[in-house]
Amino acid sequence: MAALRQAGHLTVAGAAKRFGAATVLDDLSIAVAKGEFVSLLGPSGCGKTTLLRCIAGLLRPDSGRITVAGRDITTLPAHKRNVGVVFQNYALFPHLTVAENIGFGLRAQGIRPAEAAPRIAEALALVRMSEHAGKPVTALSGGQQQRVAVARALVVRPSLLLLDEPFSALDRKLRETMQVELKHLLREVGITAIFVTHDQEEALVVSDRIAVMNAGRIEQLADPATLYGRPASLYVLDFVGQSTRLAGRVSAGGGGLVSVETALGPVRAPGAFAPGSRVVVAVRPEAVTPGAASPAEGLNRIEARVREVSFLGSRTQLHLDLPEEGEDRGVVELARLPEGIGPGSPVTLSFREEDTMLFPAA
Ligand code: ATP
Repeated sequence: MAALRQAGHLTVAGAAKRFGAATVLDDLSIAVAKGEFVSLLGPSGCGKTTLLRCIAGLLRPDSGRITVAGRDITTLPAHKRNVGVVFQNYALFPHLTVAENIGFGLRAQGIRPAEAAPRIAEALALVRMSEHAGKPVTALSGGQQQRVAVARALVVRPSLLLLDEPFSALDRKLRETMQVELKHLLREVGITAIFVTHDQEEALVVSDRIAVMNAGRIEQLADPATLYGRPASLYVLDFVGQSTRLAGRVSAGGGGLVSVETALGPVRAPGAFAPGSRVVVAVRPEAVTPGAASPAEGLNRIEARVREVSFLGSRTQLHLDLPEEGEDRGVVELARLPEGIGPGSPVTLSFREEDTMLFPAA
C-alpha cells in the first residue's frame, strides 16, 4: 500500500498558484492512491477549491505538475481529463429530467442513445433514483438532486471524482445520511475521489485520509484516527475535534516522558522537549475522567472549575474555567454527568500520561 501511495493514482507535485499578490497554493504536493477517498479540509480561503479546480483543469497552476494514472494532465483542457466533478450547487440543468441530466455527459461524448440508456439506468440504480428517471430535476428534494449530481458525474466512468462541498445545501440530518451513503457508494464503485469540505466531522466520516490545509499547504495528511489521535501541530489539533489545552513550561525531561508545570498542576506526557521550553498540553475530551481518582502511576490529575455544562444527548460536555482566558481552554466530554457537578463546581480531572499531547507553544 505504501508503494502504491508513493506512486499515486493522482499526484500533485509542487503546485503553486497566485492571485495577484496572494499565494493561494504554496508548493503543494499530494499523492492519492487508486480507489482512495481523500478529503481536503481547512478553513475558508486556505486553497481547497483552488487545488480542486487545478485538478479538474478549470484553473492552471503557475507551476507544478499534476498526473493521473501516470499521465501528465497539467496542461490538458478540462474536458479531456476524464474527471467527474460534483459542485456545491449541483449545477443540474433545470429544464431536463433526471435521466436527461445524467445522460448529458454521454451525449456530449457522442455516445449513441442505445449505448447510453443502460449506462444511465445503471447510474440511476446506483444512487437509488430509478423510479424518478422521468421527473424534472426541479421536482426533487435537495438530497435527491445531490444523488443525481453524483450519478451524472459517475456515468461517464471518470478516472477521478472531485466533489466540492457537495452537502453544504442539505440540512444536518440529511447531510449525515448522505455522507455515509456516498462513502458506501464510492467504495462499491472503487473510484478515486477528492472531497472538499471545511467541516471536520464530515471529513472524519467520509474519508480514507484527510489532508488538513493551511494557507496553501498541506499541514498533515493522515487517516482520520491518526489525525485525531496524533495531530502533527496545534493547527491540526484545533481544526479537528475538541481538546482541553493548557499552557505550560517543561520542568524536566528524560525517559521519553517530560514533566510540565501548568497553572492547574504538574502533568507528564510523552515527548522530547528541553527543560524551560514553553509548550501547550492537550488532551482529547473523551480521554478525561472526572472525580478524585487517587494518584496512580501513569495518570495525570489537574484541579479545575466547571464554567458551563452542555447536555448533548449521548454525552455531556463540561466547559472548564481555565486560568488564562483566550489562550487556555478546556472541554471535557463524559458519557454521564457525575452527581453534584454543575456550573461553578470544582472538579478533579484525571487522564493518562500516554493520552496527553505536547506541542511547542505558538
Ligand atoms: P472556501 O471554503 O471559502 O471555498 P477555499 O479553501 O476553497 O475556501 P479558495 O476558494 O481556494 O479557498 O480560495 C483561496 C483564496 O484565493 C481566497 O482568498 C480567494 O479569495 C482567492 N481566490 C480564489 N479564486 C480567485 C480568483 N479567481 N481570483 C482572485 N482570487 C481568488
